[in-house]
Amino acid sequence: MSPITQRLLAWIAGGRRDLPWRRRRDPYAVWISEVMLQQTQAATVVPYFENWLARFPDVQALAAAPLDDVLKVWEGLGYYARARNLQAAAQCIVEQHGGSLPADRRALLALPGVGRYTAGAILSLAFGQAEPVLDGNVRRVLCRLYDIAEDPRAPAVERSLWELAAVLVEAAPPGQAGDLNEALMELGALVCTPVAPVCSACPLREHCLAHARGTAAERPIRRPKAPPPHFDVVAGAIRDRQGRCLIVRRPAQGLLGGLWGFPGGVLEPDEAATEGLARTIREQTGVEMRAGAPLARIKHAYTHFRITLHAFAGELVSGEAQPLRCAEVRWVTHQALADYAFPVTDRKIAAVMESSLQAVRSA
Ligand code: SF4
Repeated sequence: MSPITQRLLAWIAGGRRDLPWRRRRDPYAVWISEVMLQQTQAATVVPYFENWLARFPDVQALAAAPLDDVLKVWEGLGYYARARNLQAAAQCIVEQHGGSLPADRRALLALPGVGRYTAGAILSLAFGQAEPVLDGNVRRVLCRLYDIAEDPRAPAVERSLWELAAVLVEAAPPGQAGDLNEALMELGALVCTPVAPVCSACPLREHCLAHARGTAAERPIRRPKAPPPHFDVVAGAIRDRQGRCLIVRRPAQGLLGGLWGFPGGVLEPDEAATEGLARTIREQTGVEMRAGAPLARIKHAYTHFRITLHAFAGELVSGEAQPLRCAEVRWVTHQALADYAFPVTDRKIAAVMESSLQAVRSA
């Protein structure tokens, strides 16, 4: 065993965080937790993971569930394509693998949403195979350990990092590949942190080139990024005479696909918000509406762009709502809004509506 592999295994054997997915190492739980943990902190994932397992305890339950239920349980975790892919993959597993996750890299990579990282995590953590993993934490540890002074996202460097991760995991004794990968990920999460790594507490200190050369703070190299584009977006909480709210469902594919929300859209350059609101809602649903009081101004960052969402109350003036530029339209009572899977921005609008209605009721 290499000294680095040995130290990592000794370190993880000395204690690891007690997280619910570590209490059950079955392939389904590993798969769900690893997908949820992508771009998301462990503390945020814990309640989502527990709710998910309670609602969809196995592959069969997930495959058979209505998509609305899947999106509702995922609501607030973001990157909703992950939830849709989990269900699509569960359906493939039922149809092609008898309902059990395959212990085979090629078969796993053929499933929707499963990339090399997720496949490596399932194979090593659940099946004990010597497959490497490379996520943000492992990438940072390796870039510092070997003092890599190149952009780790460059394809050639990325390939080298996968090879380094493979050398470490292949040196682990049989049955300990999962522990080795977990040690690398845990070290990156707790000790070799993005800012101010705690080298004094690191089991790899004596082997770490960046520590020896004083370059840890500069690794990994970060390529300067252009600021993401920004869009002004409008949304209307339109009510009809019975006090019901109009909601629309986004098309299944694309950003926030399959989720419900308030109608609206992107403003044209120099377009006034209330005019843009009336236009986008007409184009999306065919109804004419009158904008009322501003409800909220919400800033939100997606992976590749940012928005400022201007939300207004509104009243239906005329027209029959139809799904012209959306998948579905529905008039729902205010209480029923909680039953639909909304993106975080629309959930905030619903919360503002709720508090203004409560203020009116108690006035
Ligand atoms: Fe990271 Fe410091 Fe450990 Fe090197 S010694 S791997 S920089 S925590």
